[in-house]
Amino acid sequence: MLHLQNYIGGQLVPPVSGQYLASVEPATGQVFAQIPDSGAEDVAQAVQAAEAAFPAWRRLPAEERGRLLVRIAELIERDLDRLAYAESQDNGKPVSLARTVDIPRAASNFAFFGTAAQHFASETHFQEGVALNYTVRHPLGVVGCISPWNLPLYLFTWKIAPALAAGCCVVAKPSEITPYTAFLLSELCIEAGLPAGVLNIVHGTGQAAGQAIIEHPAIKAISFTGGTKTGEHIARTAAPMFKKLSLELGGKNPNLIFADCNLAEAVATSLRSSFSNQGQICLCGSRIFVERSIYEPFKAAFLEGVAGLTVGDPQESGSRQGALVSEAHLQKVLKYIALGHQEGGRLLAGGQRVQVPGRCADGYFLQPTVFEGLAPNCRVNREEIFGPVVTLTPFDTEEQVLEWANGTEYGLAATIWTRDLNRAHRVAHALHSGIVWINTWLHRDLRTPFGGMKNSGVGREGGLEALRFFTEAQNVCVKL
Ligand code: NAD
Repeated sequence: MLHLQNYIGGQLVPPVSGQYLASVEPATGQVFAQIPDSGAEDVAQAVQAAEAAFPAWRRLPAEERGRLLVRIAELIERDLDRLAYAESQDNGKPVSLARTVDIPRAASNFAFFGTAAQHFASETHFQEGVALNYTVRHPLGVVGCISPWNLPLYLFTWKIAPALAAGCCVVAKPSEITPYTAFLLSELCIEAGLPAGVLNIVHGTGQAAGQAIIEHPAIKAISFTGGTKTGEHIARTAAPMFKKLSLELGGKNPNLIFADCNLAEAVATSLRSSFSNQGQICLCGSRIFVERSIYEPFKAAFLEGVAGLTVGDPQESGSRQGALVSEAHLQKVLKYIALGHQEGGRLLAGGQRVQVPGRCADGYFLQPTVFEGLAPNCRVNREEIFGPVVTLTPFDTEEQVLEWANGTEYGLAATIWTRDLNRAHRVAHALHSGIVWINTWLHRDLRTPFGGMKNSGVGREGGLEALRFFTEAQNVCVKL
């Protein structure tokens, strides 16, 4: 049995309470690790360590801070296999996915922000003979980073790396459901020689450890990724304390597939955008709108692809679908499948729990599921399911599909499939989505702003946006 520890003041330490929580392997349903059940006292120690480390860390030249971050990136790359295996064990995702997406992207986050901070220039505003204004961007101080379970190390590092690069010190909490790679990261930070207290990782529940982070008066900003309800609660708690907030929340993303698209590519990519990580990526497209003239051919090819998505042990290379993250989450997704039937949907594929033989007999597996015939405004088409469940709906006009696509409270991401350049841009600009992909999906460039409109969040991560978030602008005006 693994015993994870907190990472506070450069040391691996047990929780003050001495209490631990059980962590379950979703593919087997068995407890495989104990994680610290931390609370306000652990967070207070972490904040103290971060405050003590801050003056020296902010004074360190960006190049030297960057060198340490690049070193962490190299160590993540060195340990690719071990980290991918750990991520799969903790989350249920196929090892192959963690190996090619989660862990390489976690390394890229550190490598990118390790160098980006050196290119972070500030503005000057010059009025000849009158005045020179220049902007200084001060690191905020101690900041809190809180992340979800679906892409554990990837999203954890997406927050930590820019905060550290900007010169902040961090108190971070990974999801209590998937804490393992965050613990391995703390070991790598020690090996990399990150100064004590610059990064502190506190494990535990949202209600105890998370709540203590958002309430702590010395924490100047909260960068949070997770559910919309939790985001609402964080905003209610932290906004009256005038903390800066970056909230990356839920989604209900549409795919708009026009008749002039490259059908084979639209089908292949829609399969990935529907079912990667068992549909548990905030950017997954769960509402697939297809122009009526190609609806039947799209449906036939899509269902053929779904039939090839083998559900199985995430450690086996042939498995395309692993386990859902927990029994509770599996039950939530099954409820939505039942709702799909009640709302009049026709089940085209899946819909059932899967029992994988052998070591995975008690795991949380579900068939990839496809419905058609559901109204665009029914609950299954409006609410976030966050599992391997998608709906197919034919449309007739651009106006109609835009109305449907924009008809939810979310606005995170969308994909458009067309060869018509004018339409691609026109439709993209009319979508209420923070991220629009045209003829692709999940293509990342770390310099771009990342985040959602409407109830999908507040603020943007990525590139200079993230460095701006973790700094405070100060204008200095010099009379000439
Ligand atoms: P969640 O909101 O339940 O938990 C996220 C994190 O918040 C966890 O670390 C949890 O412990 C913590 N938390 C819970 N209550 C808290 C509190 N009172 N104070 C402080 N922290 C608290 O979300 P989840 O179930 O882990 O993740 C799934 C959700 O995340 C989905 O809605 C998904 O769309 C969203 N998500 C969004 C993005 C994005 O970039 N927009 C990316 C991935 C996931």
